[in-house]
This record gives sequence, structure tokens and C-alpha cells, in this order.
Amino acid sequence: MGEELSLFSHCFEPSGTQGRLDARMGQMRLTITAAIHARWGHRVDGLIHTHAWQVEATVEGPDDADIVMPADDLESMLTEAVAPWMGHYLTHEDVGTWKGFQPLLVEKEATVEEIARILWRLLEPAIPGLTEVALVESTEFDRCRTVRLSR
Ligand SMILES: [Zn+2]
Repeated sequence: MGEELSLFSHCFEPSGTQGRLDARMGQMRLTITAAIHARWGHRVDGLIHTHAWQVEATVEGPDDADIVMPADDLESMLTEAVAPWMGHYLTHEDVGTWKGFQPLLVEKEATVEEIARILWRLLEPAIPGLTEVALVESTEFDRCRTVRLSR
């Protein structure tokens, strides 16, 4: 046995090294990232299309927190935030219905970056400790793009 056990043995020592671990803990960050999947459209460079978005939010709490934030609550807030976008495509120019998707007007061109900013503005007031929102365009193909907005 030896080596594998000794690598982690300090984690299980009841005293002594525990103090050193606690000191180190004060410099660490404890975060939770929750994600939901949702489909809506956006119009970029005049092209309307949808994505199977993955919408993520990351919350930071004290590094000794038992739970930074209940994941269910965070997921519910994400679902609520993007619910109005279902069945719509985000656009700064109304060009009418597209494949059954209704236009939903936003201020600027609805790039993924702009949607991340909108999402931040929706979530930040309601979620203390929010440090990042992210949009993954899709995980269903052989490529995947992510935009993250964080502080
Ligand atoms: Zn797109």
C-alpha cells in the first residue's frame, strides 16, 4: 500500500497538520457552477439560427461553506431568466417570424457576448456572490464555443 495512502494521509490526521490546512483554506476559492440547457434563437450578421444553449452561472462563497448555494435554486433562477426567450430569436432588428420563432428585440446585435451581458444584468441583482455567467453555444456537434463574463 504505502505510497498511494501516504499521499493523502495528511487529510485524515485529526490534529497537527489540520491547522496548516485551515491556513491554506483561507486563500482558496469555493465556487459552484450550475448549468441548464435551453433552446432559443439569435440573429447575428443577419443570420437567424438557434442553439441548444448551455447556460451557466458560477457563485462564490466562503471557502468553509457547507453549501455555497443550493444548486436547485441556482438552476431555477437560470431557467426563469431565459424562459421568456423560448420560442423567440433575440435580435436588434425585427425582421418578422422565422420558422415559428418570434423576434424579441434587444438593444444591440444579439451576439453571444451581448446575451452574456443581458444574462448578467438579469441575474446579478438576485444572486449574491455571482462571479460568472457563461453561454455554451452547443455541445451537440464536433465543436463548441463558450463565452464567459466574469468578475
Ligand atoms: Zn449563434
